[in-house]
Formats: sequence, structure tokens, C-alpha cells
Amino acid sequence: MPEPTLLRPALTGSFSSPAGGNPTGAMVEAAYAHHGVLARFVNCDVPPERLPDAVRGAVAMGWTGFNLSLPNKQVVIALLDGLAPSAALIGAVNCVQITDRGLIGNNTDGQGFVQALRERRDPRGARVVLFGAGGAARAIAVELALAGVATLTIVNRSIERAEEIARIVRENSETVATAVSWTGSFALPADTDVVVNGTSIGLAPDTEARVDLVADTILPGMIVCDVIPNPPDTVLLREARARGAETLDGRSMLVNQAAINLGLWMGLDPDRAVMRIALDAAIGDWRHPTS
Ligand code: NDP
Repeated sequence: MPEPTLLRPALTGSFSSPAGGNPTGAMVEAAYAHHGVLARFVNCDVPPERLPDAVRGAVAMGWTGFNLSLPNKQVVIALLDGLAPSAALIGAVNCVQITDRGLIGNNTDGQGFVQALRERRDPRGARVVLFGAGGAARAIAVELALAGVATLTIVNRSIERAEEIARIVRENSETVATAVSWTGSFALPADTDVVVNGTSIGLAPDTEARVDLVADTILPGMIVCDVIPNPPDTVLLREARARGAETLDGRSMLVNQAAINLGLWMGLDPDRAVMRIALDAAIGDWRHPTS
């Protein structure tokens, strides 16, 4: 007979609403199974007004940690005991560790992006153009700055949101950050190293929507990245490949973000390839925009 303790799985999960179709559980449970970790991931539908009870319940049941997705990434902060430095700058939390020191909030969305980018190049010293200034773009901007990019040009329709992120970056890093109002087709400076679509343009069902940039300013040698996980091959990435640029899709960010969470919860450095296969298999009927 196995030890009774071996029959008690570590408990992890996600609190969001709507939660249906969230593919994180598929990725995470594939990693647990692959690495022989006795743990479960439970995808829970929790609207903000029930979040305090859900968090108390997780603590009471001895959970190891949990994810937050829309609309709970900001409201959870009031329920926590501490924040990782980048989560404090971003002002949103997607991963909570339940520890002896209390509940610690992290933001691993941007870290997942940077980890995926590192497979292609060291972000240090890079000149980056980032489209978008919403939650995803803000997390990416902060983590790119902390990773030492040289310049960050934030291009957004609503200029105030871009300006706020540029200010946060300037005040907390050495990165030269500039906000640009997105009016008309944006021409990429020729010395750009990395281009990131951090907007929701191209997300299913609007799959033919195009990030409005001057196509022939995409040059070989640039790395063009998209946060859109569904579909993974967006108009932008297809255009970039046709012009000889390298590409990085939104599912790489999603996989790395979930992998970082497993490190925070249980010290696991999971096999990303296993998680990617599980994500691709699960995502067929997925319409939920974030982790
Ligand atoms: P937000 O609603 O916070 O921000 C949306 C951003 O897109 C804003 O900058 C908005 O501009 C811009 N935008 C939307 N439509 C247009 C348009 N037609 N023209 C120009 N700009 C536009 O969303 P999130 O930041 O939370 O999410 C953005 C995307 O990132 C989603 O598609 C989501 O699926 C993806 N995501 C991917 C993750 C991953 O791991 N791969 C993780 C998290 C999110 P404005 O400010 O002017 O309104």
C-alpha cells in the first residue's frame, strides 16, 4: 500500500469568470503527469464578488497556489500579503503562491513572454517596438525593461495608456521608453530588433485583422512576436515570415508563463514541449482570451 500522504495531491487551480474553455489546466496537468507530480489543477468559475471566499477556501484546503484571470487580476491584490516587485509595477497578479509567509502575488505574463524571447535572443540591449498598452502589453513592457532592453517604443491608439507605461518604465529602469500615438500605418525604425503585437488585434474570431504597420519596414533580422494565442499563426506573423523576419507566437508566451507558475508553486522546471502539445490539443474549441 502506498503511504497515505502520497494519495493527497497538491492542489492548484484558476479563479476567473467566465472560466469555461481556459486551457491552462490541460497544460499544467500534462506537466504534472509527465513529471510524476501528485497534484491537480482545478479550473474554477469565480466572479470578483466571490473571490474573497474562494481565496479563503483555497487557504483553508491547503492549496499550493492559484492563477487569476479576467476579471480578477487586479481585485485579488487587496486579498494578498505581499507582491513580487514586478507585479507591484504592473498592478496586476496572475499567480499567487500560498506560503508560510502568507499569500504572495506575482505577474508571470510578461515573464513568460521574456522567457520565450530568450530562446531567440538576449533581450539586453534590444531596441523594441511594442504595439498596445493594455494589461498584456504593460506586463511585457515592465519585464522587457527589467531584462535590460535599450529602447522601448510603445505604440497605442489611446496615447494616455502608452504614456503611463512609458513613465513607469523610465522611473524603474534604464530603458529609454517613448509613447507614440497610433494614427495611420506605423513605420518601424530600421534599427528595430524586436517587434511585439501586444494588442488583441487578430484574436479569434477576428482572425484576418491586421496590425497596422508599414509592411516593408519589417526587415530580415528582426524578431516579430505576437501575444495572440488563438490562432497562433496571425496575419502579422505570416507577413513577418514572408519578409524574412523570425517569429514568436502567443502560445510560446502562454506555455512559458504556466511553466514559471509551476516553478513558483512547487519548484518544478517542466518540459515546455509536453505543455505545448497539451495546449495545442486543448485549444481547438478555446475562445477565452487569457490564461
Ligand atoms: P486589453 O483590453 O487590456 O488591451 C487591448 C489592447 O489592444 C489595447 O492597447 C487596445 O488599444 C488595443 N486594441 C484593441 N483593438 C484595437 C484596434 N482595433 N486597433 C488598435 N488597437 C487596438 O487586453 P489585454 O492586454 O488583456 O489582452 C490583449 C491580448 O493579449 C488579448 O488578445 C489576449 O488574448 C492576449 N494575451 C495573451 C497572453 C499570452 O500568454 N499569450 C496573456 C495575456 C493576454 P486602446 O488602449 O487604444 O484601447
